[in-house]
Amino acid sequence: MSYDDQNIFAKILRGEIPNDTVYEDDHVLAFRDINPQAPTHVLVIPKGAYISFDDFCENASDTELVAYMRAIGKISREEGVAPVAGGNGFRLISNAGEDGVQEVPHLHVHLVGGRRIGRMIQPAAI
Ligand code: 5GP
Repeated sequence: MSYDDQNIFAKILRGEIPNDTVYEDDHVLAFRDINPQAPTHVLVIPKGAYISFDDFCENASDTELVAYMRAIGKISREEGVAPVAGGNGFRLISNAGEDGVQEVPHLHVHLVGGRRIGRMIQPAAI
């Protein structure tokens, strides 16, 4: 599977579609989900062209990997949901592929919080 540079997040990265940015550095962009499922629902994406978490782990540089992880932690603190900083908690979700029900084929982590999120996975597939 090759990277589709017409996916919606690639367009956001190129500035072709607006977004509500909450964080940006050389390697990472984070913005609010257009259809939030919780009071905090931020999508964190690498700027590099990676399809999914497994693609990123296999092919990203150490610099990109570290930048991504650090950014997620920083955003969780800035959003006020990080337990180590007095927040009430959050969940990270990264859907991959068909069974993971990934809609946008550019790696993204959903950072959701601000309410009790509930069960980890649904009992039945949809
Ligand atoms: P997935 O199902 O691929 O894990 O999640 C894709 C997410 O992207 C969904 O939560 C959806 O609401 C969000 N999304 C889709 N299009 C846009 C967009 O144009 N802007 C923003 N901010 N989020 C989007």
